[in-house]
Amino acid sequence: MAGAAGDKATVTQRADRVDVLVKSLPELDWCANPAEIKRKSLDYYWFSPVLRRELEAKSADAVVRPRNIDELRRIVAGCVGENLPVTLRGGGTGNYGQAIPLDGGVVIEMTACDRLLWLKHGVARAQAGIKLGALGELLAPQGWELRCMPSTYRMATLGGLFCGGFGGIGSITYGPLSAPGTVLGIQVMTVEAEPRVIELRSPEAMQHAHTYGTNGIILELEIALAPVHEWDEHFITFDDADAAFNVAQAVAQAPGLIKRETALFAPSVAKYFKKLAPHREAAEHAAIVVLAASNRETLEALVNQAGGRIAFRQSSEEARTRQHSLLEYCWNHTTLHALRSDKSLTYLQTTYEYGREREQLAAIARQTGDEVLPHLEFIRDEQGRVVCSGLPLVRYTTEKRLRELITLHRECGVGVKDPHVYTLEDGTRHGAMSPASLAAKRRFDPGGLLNPGKVRSWVTSKES
Ligand SMILES: Cc1cc2nc3c(=O)[nH]c(=O)nc-3n(C[C@H](O)[C@H](O)[C@H](O)COP(=O)(O)OP(=O)(O)OC[C@H]3O[C@@H](n4cnc5c(N)ncnc54)[C@H](O)[C@@H]3O)c2cc1C
Repeated sequence: MAGAAGDKATVTQRADRVDVLVKSLPELDWCANPAEIKRKSLDYYWFSPVLRRELEAKSADAVVRPRNIDELRRIVAGCVGENLPVTLRGGGTGNYGQAIPLDGGVVIEMTACDRLLWLKHGVARAQAGIKLGALGELLAPQGWELRCMPSTYRMATLGGLFCGGFGGIGSITYGPLSAPGTVLGIQVMTVEAEPRVIELRSPEAMQHAHTYGTNGIILELEIALAPVHEWDEHFITFDDADAAFNVAQAVAQAPGLIKRETALFAPSVAKYFKKLAPHREAAEHAAIVVLAASNRETLEALVNQAGGRIAFRQSSEEARTRQHSLLEYCWNHTTLHALRSDKSLTYLQTTYEYGREREQLAAIARQTGDEVLPHLEFIRDEQGRVVCSGLPLVRYTTEKRLRELITLHRECGVGVKDPHVYTLEDGTRHGAMSPASLAAKRRFDPGGLLNPGKVRSWVTSKES
């Protein structure tokens, strides 16, 4: 299907089939506005100048928002009947064109399937279209919160996080969403003439994680939660890069500190935080640390000892009232703030080797000067080690130079997950889909209608 996608006759035939589908299901909530169809065909792919060039012209032929699972079932059956590509959409905040249909067809927006189904003993079950911020609001009064969430929590959905994301806020304590014990089970719909609904428990359920909605439609997720805390959000500044790193790493590693976020920004990155500018001198390094309020004095002692200062602090309650959380400066929100000021910037996704972080950062700085601007995020990896990852900003010149910078990082021993590609295989460190994930795709999407073009090995796998 992907090969003939651009062909004029194919596009016309496909548009005709979409027309038939829309007319056969008039009671559904189809998007009627062409500008809205275009908007809901795109995500935050434009963070990458390479993806911007490759994907900006893409669009679905139709967008529909099912109000319940029965409506979803009818749409899916209709798409299978008309042999139409189907791309799922949550909040549309993905960065790698994950929710962008390469071959047109139908975008199914899941945000109306957004119920919290139950919550007991620190475990919740919710529909995939629920927004993470809204879910957090429902959990907090019961004493629980999400173990990890992206900085886009206000817009992003639970299903979108599972299928396209990684984690972020909270991963410093609980690791990524894929850490065993967090996602306990999922309910998935098959893409067949008569769609089936299948319950999967972990670890089998995890074959569907981070697969860009290519191997089934996630309807529900059952997730383990974290106890909610009264959080303090700190903006901390330092004259000295080593002192800043030492404090951030000490906080990240300290087992007695209850934490949700630890990030570090070079002055060349922190300067893009316009609202925080009154709290920072131009040459200062900055850290954002979100800790339980009970750890306030311990943090103050650590910062004072290192010669830093807590430039700004607010409670999570104040952040909510002010609608201004420091969490929305972390992870890829850092890149967003920078891009608002300078459109020539882009970014990489890096992981530094434990114990060699500063050596690696220095080696890269020596070879790139101010072409790569450090932004670090501390996380606990799936093995429980507290490691240093990064979303450094990059001054973009050419695609060739971007590839050279990725190679240079790898030569320095730094892991890079390439955010300038849209296929699943190219975006992973291993460059391949696992056989189990491919088997799951065959079972849940035998016709290959889901998000076609995102799994490179699918064509090969069908032919073999
Ligand atoms: C400013 C910014 C900051 C970000 N920070 C982070 C971060 O801290 N951590 C992080 O992990 N990511 C981050 N991201 C990326 C993104 O926000 C997250 O991955 C988010 O969880 C995606 O959720 P979504 O609902 O927007 O998914 P979408 O973008 O709508 O979809 C993501 C993928 O999941 C598929 N999908 C969605 N719902 C379903 C479903 N029900 N069934 C099957 N497939 C489905 C889509 O087809 C697509 O392939 C950031 C992005 C931006 C722009």
